[in-house]
Amino acid sequence: MGGVDTAPEMERMTDMRVYADQAATTSLSKTALEAMLPWMTENFGNPSALYEEGRTARDAVETAREKIAHLLHAKAKEIYFTSGGTEADNWALQMAAAAGARTGKKHIIVSAIEHHAVLNPAKSLERQGFRVTYLPVTSEGVVLPETLEAAICPDTALVSVMYANNEVGTIQPVEELAEICRMHGVWFHTDAVQAAGHVEIDLTKLQADFLSVSAHKFHGPKGCGFLYVKNGFRTESLLEGGAQEKGKRAGTENVPGIVGMAAALEESLIKRDKKDTFVLELRRQVAERLLSIEGSHLNGCGVMEGDEGAAAGTDAAARHAGTAVSRADRLCGNLNISFDGIEAEALLLYLDMKGISVSAGAACSAGALEPSHVLTAMGISPELAKGTIRISLDETNTQADAEFLMKVIPDAVARLRSMA
Ligand code: PLP
Repeated sequence: MGGVDTAPEMERMTDMRVYADQAATTSLSKTALEAMLPWMTENFGNPSALYEEGRTARDAVETAREKIAHLLHAKAKEIYFTSGGTEADNWALQMAAAAGARTGKKHIIVSAIEHHAVLNPAKSLERQGFRVTYLPVTSEGVVLPETLEAAICPDTALVSVMYANNEVGTIQPVEELAEICRMHGVWFHTDAVQAAGHVEIDLTKLQADFLSVSAHKFHGPKGCGFLYVKNGFRTESLLEGGAQEKGKRAGTENVPGIVGMAAALEESLIKRDKKDTFVLELRRQVAERLLSIEGSHLNGCGVMEGDEGAAAGTDAAARHAGTAVSRADRLCGNLNISFDGIEAEALLLYLDMKGISVSAGAACSAGALEPSHVLTAMGISPELAKGTIRISLDETNTQADAEFLMKVIPDAVARLRSMA
């Protein structure tokens, strides 16, 4: 940890608290809570039971499955409920690897910037004798379709590239990547944990075989998610036991969680356009102020109109397959900034004392002193990567929050630099 001074004058002078770590988790929405409450109180039946309470709970689970499938333009039978994104990612990799191995295909491709919920299962498969290729990304954190094409081998079973990155918010060209996989007869998995509820996912256009989602990233409950498995793929069991989830993922269903997740996903998608406009404006203001600090650097795609992203002086066209970099390439609430001469842990703790919650990289690796694998894969030096914070905003933030961030963060950076 960096050397944060805990002198009394640094203690919080105001009661204001700004939560700017929406990519780590979100609050439960009122809509989701209200949808969940009856399933935790009067409607407590076990969906496997044949009597009325059981049938009522079963109906709720199946209605939620249909709603989720409808929102993603998928079929209800393609949705398997899980305990969240990590479980869905592990299941997809294990199942595709097992299916590949049966036909002698023991090569797997994942991007170098995947979440550890994909990277660690990939490493585990490597220990079991699979060959794993870690796909490089551009300086903006984009997997180029031609890079994927070149990495596919005759024995490639699966490609896993996340829909949107959790640290720098880069939205990958997943439709193109999935199409390349389809042409080569390779299965395609996408970890859509950061994307679901925030971007429109249409599984009639996106030719994915597997897609992972987690409810707590879009104001749904924690401990609930799902894996989409394309119709036609022979789903392998994850958990043995009862007949739940067509016998593939045994265990009594999390009925309130599943109902709350469907309600939250629907609400997020209905409100999406309106909230995006608002969040983009908040981010624009915060980005403008923070990037005016000397020695600050934006990581990932551009955040301003006409902005070509972080890596000034590099060739944007080459970095991004000839297309202009636009705001659409980045999740609208994400801002990832490095500060010269700053230790992110120290900044994070200082900001916490001042009433601001941000992240120094992925929440799951918080506390680790290793520079972020995402930033280093983008070519950012380990020193600069260690001076990086992620601010993630959404529609529950306010103009007052943005103003507080713009006031406190520049002071904090100046203060820590003067102490260094
Ligand atoms: N994948 C990504 C991209 C994530 O950001 C996260 C959580 O931060 C996960 C997977 C894990 O999801 P969960 O917390 O539901 O296990």
